[in-house]
Amino acid sequence: MKKFETNAIRTQADQSSSREHSVPLYLTSSFTFDDAEQMRAMFADELEGNIYSRFSNPNTSEFIEKMCLLEGAEAGYATASGMAAVFAGFMALLKSGDHIISSSSIFGSTHTVITKFLPKWGITHSYADVNKPETWVGLIQKNTKMIFIESPSNPGLDIIDLKWLADLANKNNIILNVDNCFATPFIQRPIEFGAHLVIHSGTKYLDGQGRVLGGIILGKKELIKEIYTFCRSTGPSLSPFNAWVLSKSLETLSIRMERHSENAHKLAVYLESHKEIIQVRYPFLRSHPQYETAKKQMSLGGGIVSFEIKGGIERGKEFLNALEMCSLTANLGDTRTIATHPASTTHAKLSEEERSSVGITPGLVRISVGLENIQDIIDDISKALESSKI
Ligand SMILES: *Cc1c(COP(=O)(O)O)cnc(C)c1O
Repeated sequence: MKKFETNAIRTQADQSSSREHSVPLYLTSSFTFDDAEQMRAMFADELEGNIYSRFSNPNTSEFIEKMCLLEGAEAGYATASGMAAVFAGFMALLKSGDHIISSSSIFGSTHTVITKFLPKWGITHSYADVNKPETWVGLIQKNTKMIFIESPSNPGLDIIDLKWLADLANKNNIILNVDNCFATPFIQRPIEFGAHLVIHSGTKYLDGQGRVLGGIILGKKELIKEIYTFCRSTGPSLSPFNAWVLSKSLETLSIRMERHSENAHKLAVYLESHKEIIQVRYPFLRSHPQYETAKKQMSLGGGIVSFEIKGGIERGKEFLNALEMCSLTANLGDTRTIATHPASTTHAKLSEEERSSVGITPGLVRISVGLENIQDIIDDISKALESSKI
């Protein structure tokens, strides 16, 4: 079996008769058949092959095959965005009367889907506190079908013990579904710890250059079969162009994640000693409450650092305004360093109480540390900390 970097580079769609070195873009909505019998057999799932790009396409298939190798998954389906993958996982596998347990510390839109939409279809939920693992067992009900988590979580960087949770899920016949967006398969592979499904927003580190939206859901064959049928019939498919971009981007995932992590770790250490900062969160800092767990299941700390600035909401905004180089934008996992203020943006739809229960304080700032020279990143942040003093 080839190693991670080689799989990320050498997994390619079959060469065409033109003998190209880099895979071409298959901009076609449908595929032709040799004859009526082949067409019948393909529609009947007796023969494998491309029929229509909502079902499959050589570019999306290459992206899926590569991601399966990188995550150690049996199968997958690629979607138009990360949220389409989250939604497809819920819709294809849950039904009215089912119950889901989710860590409370999750992406804002996922929180909205669980809290606002799932109840409309009779799917109930319980939110679980990552910092109190002993309370999780008590949340399991007879109708609990899925546990959904992010580790590290957005934006609080909470870490959950994946092995412990997978054992709990398996013992109770529950599907463990992990949003692995922050770590990427280069840093953490939840399936190796026993997770049944892994989700990614391809928009983040998989692309890594802030160009395209995309998502993917990977895992056990029998679960992906249901998800495939749901997606094939409802249409959240990834476009061939975005799949082509994402698959190309994966060729550099390993070196990008190494540098993102190196820069983020240096920034976290710098911030930890800064007198204008109350607290810094980074999985590979000893001060992180789940540092030992992070070390056990992640090979690097990742590219996100969050911190609490002195002076609350006003100071947080002043700090963002004082940045000269770092971008103010909603994305993360880009080559460019990005600063955001979750309380007023990504998590603004949550109530004040909900926000504080997931650790989003008014002065919390999230930095997606990019690939610029680390000294320039630190200089920009340090100047902004000085000039935003109140
Ligand atoms: C961005 C993000 C998503 C949603 O992905 P989109 O591609 O924007 O739909 C889901 N989970 C996490 C952790 C994210 O950061």
